[in-house]
Amino acid sequence: MAKPAYRRILLKLSGEIFAPDAKFQFKSVDEISAAIKSISDAGVQTAIVLGGGNILRGASVDSDSGIARPVRDQMGMLATVINALAFREHLQQAGLDACILSAINMPQVCELYTRANALKRLEQSSVVIFAGGTGSPYLTTDTAASIRAAEIGANLMVKATKVDGVYDADPMHDSKAKRYEKISYDEVLASALKVMDATAVIICRDNDIPVRVVGLNKADILYGIAVKGDNEGTLMSGGTHG
Ligand code: UDP
Repeated sequence: MAKPAYRRILLKLSGEIFAPDAKFQFKSVDEISAAIKSISDAGVQTAIVLGGGNILRGASVDSDSGIARPVRDQMGMLATVINALAFREHLQQAGLDACILSAINMPQVCELYTRANALKRLEQSSVVIFAGGTGSPYLTTDTAASIRAAEIGANLMVKATKVDGVYDADPMHDSKAKRYEKISYDEVLASALKVMDATAVIICRDNDIPVRVVGLNKADILYGIAVKGDNEGTLMSGGTHG
């Protein structure tokens, strides 16, 4: 078997991927599961961070709700565990060995995250789902993804979004919006481009984690990126855009 372009990747999936219409859409979850199987079979060690935004985002809950922000964020982190439980089922049905490692201890539901266990599972070719975000409020799952990517020494983070890369304007509203092929972390920060929150970008920058921002709009896009090294979407890295 030819060596894949990347030995170990971290895939960040927003909760929205599961629920474009604010409810679970399992058909697309199955397609994503099949795509993950294709890269895992090709020898790419795959870790996943799931968002919970399809269920609840702490910052979006009305501040008049009477629920303090840290509690709302805990609710959001639990939402990522709900998504992880559903997604593990789909990965297993696709024929993968998959496990959930949570930043929040809930032994009846899934294992607690430790770096050592994550590395062991990845070496055993399990697909590892990191759930529960970082376990701390005021953060996002993009930040959790960047921290986990650094901890496990991921060679690439793949951030799946609704659009197929990073644009200089919102492509949904501006037909002249241009997609970057490459962009630096500092350009993203300076232009306040909505790729990931600034904390996540800074962690990726400071730990040299390249991030490929893509739409999961083609069945073989993950295989192309992780196994063949295709230049899909936009690459955020240390270099400037070209
Ligand atoms: N969250 C948190 N700390 C973390 C990760 C997530 O408090 O380390 C909470 C936060 O409220 C967030 C929610 O969990 O809004 C769900 O995550 P996110 O909004 O990142 O999900 P996504 O947008 O990727 O679906």
